[in-house]
Amino acid sequence: PPEIDGVRLEVSGLTRKYGRQVAVEDVSLAIRRGEVFGLVGESGSGKTTVARAIAGLPSGVGPGSLRLDGSPLAPSLARRGGARRRVQMVFQQPDATLNPAQRVRTVLARALRTLGGRGSVEELAARTQVDPGLLQARTTALSGGQKQRIAIARAFAGEPDLVVCDEPVSALDVSVQAGVLELLAAQRERSGTSYLFISHDLAVVSYLADRVAVLYRGRIVESGTTAEVLAGPHHPYTHALVTAARDRPTTLSAGTASAGGCRFVARCAFAHDRCADEPALREITPGHVVRCHLASGALPSAPLSVRTEE
Ligand code: SF4
Repeated sequence: PPEIDGVRLEVSGLTRKYGRQVAVEDVSLAIRRGEVFGLVGESGSGKTTVARAIAGLPSGVGPGSLRLDGSPLAPSLARRGGARRRVQMVFQQPDATLNPAQRVRTVLARALRTLGGRGSVEELAARTQVDPGLLQARTTALSGGQKQRIAIARAFAGEPDLVVCDEPVSALDVSVQAGVLELLAAQRERSGTSYLFISHDLAVVSYLADRVAVLYRGRIVESGTTAEVLAGPHHPYTHALVTAARDRPTTLSAGTASAGGCRFVARCAFAHDRCADEPALREITPGHVVRCHLASGALPSAPLSVRTEE
């Protein structure tokens, strides 16, 4: 991977509400240049709200600041001006953003025009691994995997600084997931673009992400390098996710809400008296933070084999 150096995106104190419902609360994270930052959690944890806020899409209301390369990033696309191009998004369902009446060539030509990309459609296709034979095809004629590859090529038309990928492979057949992940890895390597990579699938996250944050009911409960967090989780929720991924690839049930105190208390096998007070994030090793009252080393070992560099 390219050298990871300096902060590209800084999110501070992001809170978002839909009416009275709090979707994310006080989320802070920093994504470095050239880094893939994974955001993990089950559905309803607030992952997509964080993604949409960063991408400038409607995401509820609330405080919090976004900075891209040190400069404030407006919360809505309409107010981002020239910075609109710098953050691109790849969605779970490519169908939602591909015009069915258009040919692939038209989609890519338009992306080059609107995102300020250089070179021809053929050059964009070559650098994003689009089969030139597909350029004349209508988007409706493509498979799900091909559509997602076109959506990725389109996101890279203007060489973005950050690409927000929201569950980019979870709607695809398992047989084509690896190819799409390899394409994303290759684009990062080629361009040094940073990714916020959102997934409920720990195996997918461990393939791409350098660091990871775990969201539970709108709050970060653990964050650190992917290798440290997934191989030695310190929060009981991360531990349960890792154990579930290792033993049976299913997601955990949604659980019930708890009033006050630790939000995981109703599901936590390690809950004790102190858990009636909500824990703060604390650093256990440099860069590895956890929101839990348990002492380090209190959890049984549950390592998920994490893909490390070959
Ligand atoms: Fe479990 Fe208590 Fe830690 Fe919450 S603070 S995760 S209830 S041990």
